[in-house]
Amino acid sequence: MDIPYAFDSLAKAGTMLGSGAIIVADESTPILDVALKVARFYRHESCGKCTPCREGTNWTVKMLQRIGTGDATPMDLELMASVCQNIIGNCLCVLGDAMAMPIGSIIAKFRDELDETTDAEADVADAETEVAEAEAAHEHMLAVARAGMRECDLAVEVNLYARERGANDNFLMLSAGPNQLGIVASNNRPVERGNIISAEGTPAYDGQFAQICRSVSVGPPSNLQAEKYALLVRAMKAGIAVIRPGAKVSDIAEAIDAVMTEAGYEKYNRPPYLNRRGHGLGAGSMEPGDIAVDNHTVLEEDMVFVVHPNQYLPETGYFLCGEPVRVTASGVEKLSKTWAELGAVGV
Ligand code: SF4
Repeated sequence: MDIPYAFDSLAKAGTMLGSGAIIVADESTPILDVALKVARFYRHESCGKCTPCREGTNWTVKMLQRIGTGDATPMDLELMASVCQNIIGNCLCVLGDAMAMPIGSIIAKFRDELDETTDAEADVADAETEVAEAEAAHEHMLAVARAGMRECDLAVEVNLYARERGANDNFLMLSAGPNQLGIVASNNRPVERGNIISAEGTPAYDGQFAQICRSVSVGPPSNLQAEKYALLVRAMKAGIAVIRPGAKVSDIAEAIDAVMTEAGYEKYNRPPYLNRRGHGLGAGSMEPGDIAVDNHTVLEEDMVFVVHPNQYLPETGYFLCGEPVRVTASGVEKLSKTWAELGAVGV
């Protein structure tokens, strides 16, 4: 309040003059009302030429309204912050940024007030439902996959199944081969006996995502494949075991890397043999970000993310292996009912 209303003095205080408009609100004004007024104004003013602004302003209004009706979860706040981040710098003019900056700032600075209107338990319940659906879609893949089927046909089968069960979407990465370097988009290549099918299923319900990662052998897996896959599962379990409030994301990646290093795969603990050891769930892969050795984000209760050691091993090719988890008050809860194992189809 004591800062001169000028570009330089406001910049020095860590803020900006923006469009020059002033909104005065006292402590009795709910911050949600302020945010809605701002977002509605920019939605109305958007000319619609560029997608981040056209869609982002509309999504933001809808998400704020969801908070107002008591239907939002903490994940919605993360989603809204992510939408704002994706608007900034991606529009043709500054109108989109002009909405995203104050809304992002409101989420950051008034998080406690907004959190009071969200339902954390609903977030967890949603995550559990989504994970159960991801597992059901994987079971369906095991039931229908067979040698001779094209990758793209198998992917369509699984996606349609997920949608028939109510998913808005299923971001499915699925490819097969005898010694894959990584997972790629499904194409018209027929799946052959002796291949490993790698499938990362990510169904979305109400705009939120859950993910499981699995590899499946077409025909019985070799002893070597089974042994190497078991190693990856062991590494994943070591990573999950260190999860608790106060631990860092990097602790998870380091625990996974330690198992792989001990087994002689230190060289393979980095790109191009892998991308990351997991990531946040929800639109935009949000909190706590990527599970990687350089992410020192501190874990908090109710964070939901997937731990997936997914990587290439020279003897067997690329394996997918991942489970979604939730940070609890005392440690971690695995949200999937099954553990990844090297399944087999067409045996
Ligand atoms: S950022 Fe500007 S150009 Fe793009 S849709 Fe919004 S108002 Fe139009």
